[in-house]
Amino acid sequence: MSKIGRIIEEFYPLIRNVPRVSGTPLEAVFIEKIADVYRAMNYDVDIQRFNFIGWELSERPRLIEVDSGKEVSAERVMWSGSTPEAGIEGVIEYRGRLRPWGLGTGYRVNKYAIVSDDGEDLGYVLEDYAHGSLPSPMHDMPYISVSKADPERWMARDKPVRLHASVRTRILPGAKTANVIATKKGRKDEEIIVCAHHDTVLTDWDVIGVVDNGSGVVGVMKVAEKLMNLKTEKTIRFISFAAEEFNMVGSRYYIAMRDEKDELDRMKAVINLDDVYNSFREFFIVAPNRFYKNLIQKILDRPEMKGKKFANVRFGDSNATDDWPFRERGIPAMLLLQEGPEEFAGFKDLEETYIPKTAEFVVALVEEIDSV
Ligand SMILES: [Zn+2]
Repeated sequence: MSKIGRIIEEFYPLIRNVPRVSGTPLEAVFIEKIADVYRAMNYDVDIQRFNFIGWELSERPRLIEVDSGKEVSAERVMWSGSTPEAGIEGVIEYRGRLRPWGLGTGYRVNKYAIVSDDGEDLGYVLEDYAHGSLPSPMHDMPYISVSKADPERWMARDKPVRLHASVRTRILPGAKTANVIATKKGRKDEEIIVCAHHDTVLTDWDVIGVVDNGSGVVGVMKVAEKLMNLKTEKTIRFISFAAEEFNMVGSRYYIAMRDEKDELDRMKAVINLDDVYNSFREFFIVAPNRFYKNLIQKILDRPEMKGKKFANVRFGDSNATDDWPFRERGIPAMLLLQEGPEEFAGFKDLEETYIPKTAEFVVALVEEIDSV
């Protein structure tokens, strides 16, 4: 194995370390290790440090049905505000459907309010939203996620259902994080960006660290390794974004900084890898336009790709991954994601099957885009 191959292999076990929520020490260590891998490949590495409004959970959410005393399984929502220490109590009412990542989002989540006897909203319950964050910390109210079956049960009753809820959180101004940007200079200023986010949601489950999105982080490294000794026309940037789980704060920051310098028109294409290690039933791909859709299909139809189980592809849209803020600014950005249950069959499986497969596809895509 090559020296770089070995360095990447040593990196793999780190992706299990969770929670690497942006702004925490565990993420900070991870960021430095990512930068080291790209330095070993002799790329120019820029650690783009920035502050943002972070968040931490001081007490897990609790939700109790007052009449029966039954405790309902409840999960945190990142950027949620706090209840008073004694909690809140009121009846549950359907409010509507929240757009989780802002007004441009297609996806919507059922939202219920816990309403006081005076008719005031004291806090909110979201349906199946344990992996999400709020659009921003702007709306300082407690939010709790529950599974879909609970509100269904509450709404089916004739009498209003009374709930007691508590969650203690802290908004953290000045939380520190960073994007890692490794650059391969081409002949031209035009750029292709290959990226993945390195942060996770708040979780103890190491599979989330592997799937979402350690797999993308090592996927981008593998692409960078394959392109190391290749001359390209366009400049290639390999970017590891922070704070994706906080409504794509890291990629938005990167784009804003390039925009301030009027450099956005250099970006010819963005390829984002997020969750490239689910058990693959299907590849889910976002193509920004017909040109890229045809190009992707052409590559997938190659005999050497067909043998790699790329066969099932579903094209769709996403507003919840780092490719989205680029498309918001009119930059053609693609997403590559594998659909299926989150599971981890071991590093051998990841290293020998999934990552090479993904990297080979992305390298083919980069080469095609580089030639137009
Ligand atoms: Zn992700």
